[in-house]
Amino acid sequence: MSCCCDNYNGLHFISQDHAYLELIDPKTKDTLKIIDGAIGTIAYTSLDWEAGPILRYDMGDVTQVFTSPCTCGLTGFRFKILGRSDDMLIVKGINVYPAAVRNVVTEFFPRTTGEIRIILDQPGPKVPAPLHVKAEHGKEEKDLPKLKSDIEARIHDVLRFKAEVEIVSEGALERTTTKSKLIEKRFEKRG
Ligand SMILES: [Zn+2]
Repeated sequence: MSCCCDNYNGLHFISQDHAYLELIDPKTKDTLKIIDGAIGTIAYTSLDWEAGPILRYDMGDVTQVFTSPCTCGLTGFRFKILGRSDDMLIVKGINVYPAAVRNVVTEFFPRTTGEIRIILDQPGPKVPAPLHVKAEHGKEEKDLPKLKSDIEARIHDVLRFKAEVEIVSEGALERTTTKSKLIEKRFEKRG
């Protein structure tokens, strides 16, 4: 259920009596702690559906959960869906979701446009560090080396992996009309 706050805080999970939700690691299926900002996929177990049991059904949607109190007064955790687990990369043992990288870069708006591309030279999901991320700078941004190091530091603080950020000019990354493409697979082009 969507939150009615002016300041959008994610969706409220309100059916605790009907479904048991777990945050899980999409690769190992281990249960993760539901702590503020944690990211995983949601596994769903129906508690009262009579037609047939649904047990730990992993919906494959990468979800970030929030446990801080919401200004609207509803209790329980909130969540935002970031993307699909099929897109997940693993950098030195850390699960990396392209949509989470984009969210970090978008925090820097208007210094960035929020548009990114993750460049892969080999097939995933395991890829070497540092991860090559292209990010567009905003029109007015002059200090590009500072922007690069600020984004790299923020990615390291928030997402716990090492990125090599390449700043490109506004509009340099191709826009797609369908689902935005966050990964560019260079190894496919060569073949
Ligand atoms: Zn709320």
